[in-house]
Amino acid sequence: MHKPKKSLGQNFLIDKNIAKKIVNLTSINNQHIIEIGPGTGFLTDEIIKKKPKKIYLLEKDKSLYLNLKKKYFNYKNIEIINEDALNFDLQYIKEKKKIISNLPYNISIKLIINWLKVECKLQKMVLMIQKEVAEKMKFTGKEKKNRLNLFMEVASNYRIEFNVSQNVFFPKPKVNSSVISILPKKDLDLDLNKFENFTREIFKFKRKKLSTALNLNNKNISLINSNLHEKRAEDLNIAELMEVFNLFYN
Ligand code: SAH
Repeated sequence: MHKPKKSLGQNFLIDKNIAKKIVNLTSINNQHIIEIGPGTGFLTDEIIKKKPKKIYLLEKDKSLYLNLKKKYFNYKNIEIINEDALNFDLQYIKEKKKIISNLPYNISIKLIINWLKVECKLQKMVLMIQKEVAEKMKFTGKEKKNRLNLFMEVASNYRIEFNVSQNVFFPKPKVNSSVISILPKKDLDLDLNKFENFTREIFKFKRKKLSTALNLNNKNISLINSNLHEKRAEDLNIAELMEVFNLFYN
């Protein structure tokens, strides 16, 4: 028996219905699927039933990796990689691909942002993450914007699919979970690294007016003229945000 490691966010799914619900959120037949942190292969077994062309399993835990090697020894279309997902380059897989995962929650935001930044024919992600994070990422219907939901809004089509109870995991996590789906926007005409730097700047003093937050001087005369400098970062809509972004970077 594998002893779950807290440091690796190991909360294993134990409910087949939830695993089935997750894999039903996207078409898998004949596709290239990446699963991050397959653990014991609980979700993997459901992915296999949907007949993907190839599955890449990325598991950081050496002993789980070795178990997976044994378990899927006979499957020619499963590649098992013992690596940290944070270091894995998605461009390694040349084909169109999808990511399906019950993510290690402590690195979920970092992984999602990294994946949205690389150009790599990533078609869709179906992910289980912490519920609070899923809510924070949601842009629509929010009065106050944050850096994360703005990033998700410009880079993807984002949806919370359903919430998941703590009882379907072993060990039972302290937090609630949600399954989300993310469709990266194609042909995005925006440098997401620049955009991140920009939101970092304007959210540093998010309750101050932009004129104060950005320490405006004569160089930024166009922004002063636009009247947007009277607003606070968290109150900007997307059009206004992009207007300020363009004034700053062009
Ligand atoms: N998918 C499994 C396990 C989810 S728990 C299930 O649903 O039952 C999270 C999994 O991610 C664990 O297997 C853990 O070892 C793995 N993991 C944690 N950090 C990782 C990282 N940085 N890269 C790859 N896998 C990681």
